[in-house]
Amino acid sequence: MRPKPPHESPSVPAAPRPARADGTAPDAAPASGHVWLVGAGPGDPDLITLRGLRALQAADVVFHDSLAAPELLDHCRPDALRIPVGKRAGRHSVPQEDIHILLAAHARAGLAVVRLKGGDPFIFGRGGEEMESLRAQGIPVTVVPGVTAASGCAAATGIPLTHRDLAAGVCLMTAHRQDGAHDLDWTSLAADRQRTLVFYMGLSQAGHVGTELLLHGLPGATPAALISQGATPRQKAVRCTLAGLARAARRRELESPCLIVIGDVVTLADPALVPWVKDLPEHEAGHPGKAPADRTSGAAGATSVPGQNDRPAASPLACPA
Ligand code: SAH
Repeated sequence: MRPKPPHESPSVPAAPRPARADGTAPDAAPASGHVWLVGAGPGDPDLITLRGLRALQAADVVFHDSLAAPELLDHCRPDALRIPVGKRAGRHSVPQEDIHILLAAHARAGLAVVRLKGGDPFIFGRGGEEMESLRAQGIPVTVVPGVTAASGCAAATGIPLTHRDLAAGVCLMTAHRQDGAHDLDWTSLAADRQRTLVFYMGLSQAGHVGTELLLHGLPGATPAALISQGATPRQKAVRCTLAGLARAARRRELESPCLIVIGDVVTLADPALVPWVKDLPEHEAGHPGKAPADRTSGAAGATSVPGQNDRPAASPLACPA
């Protein structure tokens, strides 16, 4: 039985189907399956959308990221194939080109394929590339949006990304370029004080981000925050200033995934969620020198790990002003 065609079910597979074989199919097979690029949200399994959940429940095969909450896989059919393709501690992720091939091959076998991605598939998740590749091969693809890390971390720490008095806009950036180059328009980023800046994939680049923004005129006293494993029970957050960003990022408690938020809205962080401790002595702030490479996520080093289904609890960290 094939997945329902889009006119019958535009967004999600309609009903569970029996499992197929191993999903591989000859390249010449018609594109009879369907791929759903599903945003899993930023870490808390409750933050997936209903549409995403339904797609997950009905999927024959699920290719999942390491950023997607593992608990979400409990919603898959017992006979669904669950294939990890994300970066794991000590192991490389499946190359992007191979993911394209796998998605297409399983869809060509007539399967309902879910590609479960952390946050929103279209925000720094390479979902655009996956969609392009599938489209080029004539395979129907539906995108199910998700709560992106910026929104999830903002809510979890009480930092509104925009605010009538403090920020007229928000800019989502990555400090980490595919080719390793940093060709961001720092002049424009530093020029607009009315805009909250959010940097994804920025833990190892925090020093560079801070230096460039300072050099291009953003005041060193601009409030900043680093939010590690936001919206999860292992969440940790550090508040600092732009001038102290590099030092704050060296805190060894911070692990990837980690987000940098810069702007006056950081002053509104809810102390009940993330109580800041100031005036951290230098010797507790980490070792000076090069910022560490992005650290892999995991429970190691976590100071607060309530039960899996507990609400996320923030672990405050001290930070120099
Ligand atoms: N598509 C995702 C982003 C993928 S890029 C989304 O929309 O959220 C991966 C980067 O996202 C990480 O390096 C980190 O900067 C950020 N990120 C993802 N989940 C996060 C989390 N729970 N807490 C903090 N940052 C997170």
